[in-house]
Amino acid sequence: MHDSLYFNDSHLAVREMVRAFALEHVSPVAAHHDAESSFPWENVKRMGELGLLGVPWAEELGGAGFDTIAFMIAIEELARIDASHSITISAHTTLGTSPIVYFGTPEQQQRFVPLLSSGQVLGGFGLTEESAGSDAGGTRTTAVKKDGYYVLNGSKRFITHAGVGEVFVVTAVTDPSAGTRGISSFILTKETCDLEACRAVGIGHSDALPNMAGFRAGKKEDKLGWRASDTRELLFDNVEVPAENLLGTEGLGFINFMKTLDAGRIGIAALSIGIAQGALDEALKYASMRKQFGQAIVSFQGVQFQLSDMATEIEAGRHLVYHAAWLSQQGLPFGKEAAMAKLFCSELAMRATIKAIQIHGGYGYTKEYPVERYMRDAKICEIGEGTSEIQRIVIARHLLKELAG
Ligand SMILES: Cc1cc2nc3c(=O)[nH]c(=O)nc-3n(C[C@H](O)[C@H](O)[C@H](O)COP(=O)(O)OP(=O)(O)OC[C@H]3O[C@@H](n4cnc5c(N)ncnc54)[C@H](O)[C@@H]3O)c2cc1C
Repeated sequence: MHDSLYFNDSHLAVREMVRAFALEHVSPVAAHHDAESSFPWENVKRMGELGLLGVPWAEELGGAGFDTIAFMIAIEELARIDASHSITISAHTTLGTSPIVYFGTPEQQQRFVPLLSSGQVLGGFGLTEESAGSDAGGTRTTAVKKDGYYVLNGSKRFITHAGVGEVFVVTAVTDPSAGTRGISSFILTKETCDLEACRAVGIGHSDALPNMAGFRAGKKEDKLGWRASDTRELLFDNVEVPAENLLGTEGLGFINFMKTLDAGRIGIAALSIGIAQGALDEALKYASMRKQFGQAIVSFQGVQFQLSDMATEIEAGRHLVYHAAWLSQQGLPFGKEAAMAKLFCSELAMRATIKAIQIHGGYGYTKEYPVERYMRDAKICEIGEGTSEIQRIVIARHLLKELAG
């Protein structure tokens, strides 16, 4: 996409800055962290210093003071090199921090957002449970009010940053008779599982946050992709959460989390576009260099057509992403557009990465080239923050609502 329509000079500056950072610091270590399934703390520290852990938040809250479009640019540019680094800023900011920014009291904002925006601690979002996946309203975790506390019991599944993070917004049932209107959200804190690594790099932990008894991370998932992103269970065993940590109004937790996911979906769409663009970059480079039948394979129309299809779909997807981001930052409704962007871009990322492997031939099937990692990283974009099927349901609901007027 050329530098028009959605981007101003400060957006272009963010793009250059993140691109340079990703090439210098992420590219050399991405394959290593993927192979080891290790969290890139050194780069998290650098990202914190660059303001990438609080791109859209106001400077008074310790943020970088940019807008949603700038944030999407940062997500896209990081994912062009490595999706795990990209989901770290995306999940931390949109899922972990934005509910506190949008639904928190001024006291909660002052207490948690500066720590999160600077990257001093990482945040996460606990919605999914063993029996509450696509049907997120099936929450079983309970919160019972008692003497100025809510006592939480239950567990969450597949939570990004569950191990490495210290601040979590989670849902729990406060009124079992009220359906999704009986679900509330809370801010919980615990110590990172990587205390030693955090102390060594000087980021990821704050002594100012209480380590709530009974709240801890469970087993780490051994995943197909996003392997340098931390995904674990979160467990609640009689956790006493002070009433002041209730986030927003009691009973509105589920509704607020659905709003959070609308915004998160634009982030996953931007991340998908980044992966697809990275795959195209690699495929173009390889096709220009690889010779068969006495010529570079890029001179064959069969290869050119694949590259052209990838580039065309990426361009179309990018319009969906930045249009949805623009709507969101204008304060206009964007739920349908966010679902469309997420659906289209995550599925195009799969198509693009598979084509990139095809263009690499046998070499694409090995770890000598990054395209196999790109394909593994793309798959989760069709699942996380609502599967493709759920996006189609969301879009259809909007269409029917529009029809009914
Ligand atoms: C790496 C990773 C990171 C994640 N991070 C987080 C996080 O930070 N916080 C969090 O809360 N969750 C997180 N999740 C959870 C993620 O959002 C869920 O996995 C996802 O919403 C799907 O839920 P599920 O896995 O239970 O699948 P299910 O809901 O069991 O779905 C299984 C299949 O059934 C289909 N299906 C279900 N219902 C319908 C329907 N009505 N119509 C048609 N098809 C349907 C689905 O589309 C899917 O294909 C993460 C997951 C992963 C893998």
